[in-house]
Amino acid sequence: MKEAKRLASLPPYLFARIEEKLEEAKKKGVDVINLGIGDPDQPTPEHIVQALITHAQNPENHRYPTSKGLLEFRTSVASWYQRRFGVELDPESEVVTLIGSKEGIAHISFCYLQEGDVALIPDPGYPVYGIGSALAGAENYIMPLKEERGFLPDLADIPSDVARKAKLMFLNYPNNPTGAVAGKEFFEEVVEFARNYDIIVCHDAAYTEITFDGFSAPSFLEVEGAKEVGIEFHSLSKTYNMTGWRLGWAAGNSEVIRALGTLKSNLDSGVFQAIQQAGIAALEGPQDCVEKMRQLYKERRDAVVEGLRRLGCHLEPPKATIYVWAPVPGDYTSTDFAELVLEKAGVVITPGIGYGKFGEGYFRISLTVDKERIQEGLKRIEQALGKLY
Ligand SMILES: *Cc1c(COP(=O)(O)O)cnc(C)c1O
Repeated sequence: MKEAKRLASLPPYLFARIEEKLEEAKKKGVDVINLGIGDPDQPTPEHIVQALITHAQNPENHRYPTSKGLLEFRTSVASWYQRRFGVELDPESEVVTLIGSKEGIAHISFCYLQEGDVALIPDPGYPVYGIGSALAGAENYIMPLKEERGFLPDLADIPSDVARKAKLMFLNYPNNPTGAVAGKEFFEEVVEFARNYDIIVCHDAAYTEITFDGFSAPSFLEVEGAKEVGIEFHSLSKTYNMTGWRLGWAAGNSEVIRALGTLKSNLDSGVFQAIQQAGIAALEGPQDCVEKMRQLYKERRDAVVEGLRRLGCHLEPPKATIYVWAPVPGDYTSTDFAELVLEKAGVVITPGIGYGKFGEGYFRISLTVDKERIQEGLKRIEQALGKLY
């Protein structure tokens, strides 16, 4: 059966070899330590689960939800933005509920991009930005994220003819996979650039709540003029360990929010209302669970940084996210290094090339397993491969 061209535009799956090797190792009985998983290992806090149970019992919630989401949930999002960032949002026109933020990130491209348009895509980055735009028929212009610039794109480097054709720009801070953070000055620069070239900014803010060492991540929408040029995607997935629930939102420019809502009303029927009610419980309930989670990830982050130091790699500990992004030692490609580490030490790490060509030369370690397992994993690498750097 002949597939449509747009399917052929999907990038090849880069982790297939690693997954094969992982299966082989498991079959041989190796106790593999998987530091490649980007999915929180902790359960959703109990009060949120209880809210789902209660609201699942209400027959009013058993019918089709509206695709843009319960006004009650969107109001809860707006008050959270007010409390957390001092940002005013109109829940009616400036917030739309998403079936996890990935859904909106993929669909926004279908609202604004067609053949002949350009999307500005960060590299390395979450693959969904460039996949959504490619499926919509646009051309991706890669914005390299380089270590010497703190993994922020150099907007001055984007040729003006490209910028004029660009309709969307994707950004993500705190950043997956690099763990980099952005300040308001950078967002101010982005707003000015977007105004000059009439570009819609799509900021993915999935990790603003997972920060360490007293750092508090800003929202893109805090910056003056941001709401005129863009939207922000957010999610309950990482903040409340709710990846499986599929609940997120987009907030910001009302015209863009309306466009996304219109597309969605033709494609999906929204999020189960009891899950949106549980989302309200998450946003409005006690927040000590979030503080506990930060503490847990911080201890794990410190264990990774310490383990890497023993290997000879001296890193600035990342201020945010559930990842540590480290340079590959020696002359290995990131894929060869990941395969070597899996074969010799029984540890899975993610090769940077999986996040784009500017991810080559790096690997990613996830903080989604116990500190003890992280320590053991890094010790095994040290014992199997010695000082690497
Ligand atoms: C995990 C993650 C998300 C969240 O996706 P959901 O669909 O909301 O679960 C969004 N962006 C990035 C970069 C992520 O790593």
